[in-house]
Amino acid sequence: MIVVMKPDATEEEINEVEEKLIDLGFSVHFSQGVDYTTLGAIGDKSGVDPRELEILNEGVAKVTEISEPYKLAGRNFHPADSVIEVGDVKIGGEEPVTMAGPCAIESREQVETIAEYVSDHGASILRGGAFKPRTSPYSFQGLGEEGLKYMRKAADNNDLKMVTEVMGKSQVGLVSSYADILQIGSRNMQNYNLLREVGKTDRPVLIKRGFSSTVKEFLMAAEYVMSEGNEKVILCERGIRTFSDETRFTLDLSVVPVIKDESHLPIIIDPSHSTGVRDKVIPMARAGIAAGADGMIVEVHHEPENAKSDGPQSLRPPQFAALMDQVKQINETLTREPVKA
Ligand code: PEP
Ligand code: MN
Repeated sequence: MIVVMKPDATEEEINEVEEKLIDLGFSVHFSQGVDYTTLGAIGDKSGVDPRELEILNEGVAKVTEISEPYKLAGRNFHPADSVIEVGDVKIGGEEPVTMAGPCAIESREQVETIAEYVSDHGASILRGGAFKPRTSPYSFQGLGEEGLKYMRKAADNNDLKMVTEVMGKSQVGLVSSYADILQIGSRNMQNYNLLREVGKTDRPVLIKRGFSSTVKEFLMAAEYVMSEGNEKVILCERGIRTFSDETRFTLDLSVVPVIKDESHLPIIIDPSHSTGVRDKVIPMARAGIAAGADGMIVEVHHEPENAKSDGPQSLRPPQFAALMDQVKQINETLTREPVKA
């Protein structure tokens, strides 16, 4: 942490800041510029609130944090990319990974039909919700454990792994007994009790970015899971709220290279929930892969007009096939590595 004092800061004010930093457990390094005195706080004290110093006295001009609060999720202490292995599927490796399937598990037949199609066309992980976080309590809430059973069977029958959402702490045991990857939904990204609970399991965790969350908050959610000992975290950018209202959310693709700088964890994109409309999904999926995402999670339905949730944003099977073909071409053509200046 660095504290910059105003040019007219008094000696008493500077001393007060120094004493406060020492009290907080830092050692202090002074540097004197032409106008400004700067106090560098040295020490690993991640719990300190910079505002305590900002409001200490009138002489303080600015407080800047220099070390990142996400020690486990951050790249500083873990420079190499993390590759999360789910059986023989590698997330964060050279090939982008595709998770595909319906928004919600609706019936045995529905999930079998979709699983077979997405598997035949290159997906390696089946997505689908058995517990659904719906905006209205009167909307379809998912089939619960019955849905998990249908999904597990459809995944196994079609050589797929499965990812599904766990909405509450009490469901973690049940969902872990069926799923290969536990999904934390956007609305639960800052549910710290839930994050800690999935952090106690050995299942990889897919964290969807809260739609009003900053990158720092997103990475701190990963940090919660990792702080319990589970380092297998996959991040997912799924769109944030902005003033742009032509699509359901705004897919913030710029976080892909930002997260790649800040963190060693893989990041995938969700072009379905971010756009909310079928014909916008493919262009944004292409863009996400080109931006360097490690994969995508896409909604696909064989009869989207009859889907119980998110039909309008679910790709029809031939669209999914086309998307997979295009992603393959992008991956073969582009270098996804950033070019450093
Ligand atoms: C989902 O992927 O099923 C979902 C509900 O997404 P989100 O949490 O991003 O809204
Ligand atoms: Mn959905």
